[in-house]
Amino acid sequence: MKNIAVLGSTGSIGVQTLEIAREYANEIKITALVAHSNIELLEQQIREFMPRLVCVYDESRAKLLRDNIKDLPVRVMTGMDGIIACATAEYADMVVAAVVGMIGILPTIEAIKAGKNIALANKETLVTAGHIIMPLVKEKNVDLLPVDSEHSAIFQALNGENNKSIYKILLTASGGPFRGMKKSYLESVTAEDALKHPNWRMGPKITVDSATMINKALEVMEAAWLFNLSIDQIQVLVHHQSIIHSMVEYVDGSIIAQLGLPDMRLPIQYALFYPERRYMKLGERADFIRIKELTFEEPDMDTFYGLRLGIEAGKLGGSMPTVFNAANEWAVARFLEGKIGFMDIPRLIEEAMRSHKIIQNPSPDEILNTEKQTYDFIEEIVKS
Ligand code: NDP
Ligand code: MG
Repeated sequence: MKNIAVLGSTGSIGVQTLEIAREYANEIKITALVAHSNIELLEQQIREFMPRLVCVYDESRAKLLRDNIKDLPVRVMTGMDGIIACATAEYADMVVAAVVGMIGILPTIEAIKAGKNIALANKETLVTAGHIIMPLVKEKNVDLLPVDSEHSAIFQALNGENNKSIYKILLTASGGPFRGMKKSYLESVTAEDALKHPNWRMGPKITVDSATMINKALEVMEAAWLFNLSIDQIQVLVHHQSIIHSMVEYVDGSIIAQLGLPDMRLPIQYALFYPERRYMKLGERADFIRIKELTFEEPDMDTFYGLRLGIEAGKLGGSMPTVFNAANEWAVARFLEGKIGFMDIPRLIEEAMRSHKIIQNPSPDEILNTEKQTYDFIEEIVKS
């Protein structure tokens, strides 16, 4: 039996993780669930999977949930202490880190310290704290298994090969809903337009990140940490059909790719059962006669210049990726509320990056301080 804690169980990745747990109920036991405030869905999940511990980050929502599940022997905690308790409880072997945003950093660090294997969806963790996470994973000898589809593809294409044999990574991108559009058009697009992703159904934040292509910048940084590569070894390639999830080009020119339909349950299931492969009971399978063609384009880094800024932040390193990520989190939240425009997202990130003095090897506290300072800085410039 695998004992698994799911952080972010009410989100897109969390729900799909539980679909797999349902299909493999005789092999997967859910020990803990974490959400922010969606207690209606969380209650359904609790009644189905009967974890010992849950956390609702929002205190008032947690109180309501406690009342609603009085009949069950389940402990309800709140806040960061509650998330960390769920991530470190002794009865879990693996933690699925699928909360959205920088709130995911500390629980992941604590879970690794507690010796848990990690199935990592939350990309903000490696982007901002890769220099802390990667040595810790080594020290604690735990598995860090990527859930993000591109990183799972690279991990599968590597399959034990020495990373010195890697010439480069071809990191594929769908291009999002605005592929081929120009800046003047993008100035006036709305959150509703940005949320219409052509290939993937995901949470709102990452869907907007796909539309700006900032998601790909975060993934470049994530891949550099996971596979111990320089940013220059990672080439972003627009592949509109999202069938090739990424490729590894080896020093001898050989290229190995991982392919499949765009369905996150595949990389999630791969991480949950690694190193075994299991029959996929859910969804369709790829049919190349129907797919017909796979196409490739260079990304338009002039229009989608958030991608260029992210690559620059990754090369600068230290606390700069945190500034890039925090500025993006702030801007995406305001864009989703209709308070700023789509092209304000890269504009604000650029201003925040230009005003930041880099801290090398930031500690978790310095990362969180940098996040706060970035929020304060942007709030000031948006006000003025
Ligand atoms: P969603 O927005 O769908 O879900 C986010 C989850 O995190 C929800 O369960 C939410 O709870 C919870 N959450 C948010 N804030 C807090 C908090 N303060 N405390 C506790 N829980 C919190 O996001 P996704 O599932 O799309 O993405 C999750 C992560 O995985 C992101 O980092 C994303 O970049 C990454 N990822 C996602 C992919 C996808 O296909 N969706 C693909 C690759 C990576 P509530 O519902 O109660 O608000
Ligand atoms: Mg991805």
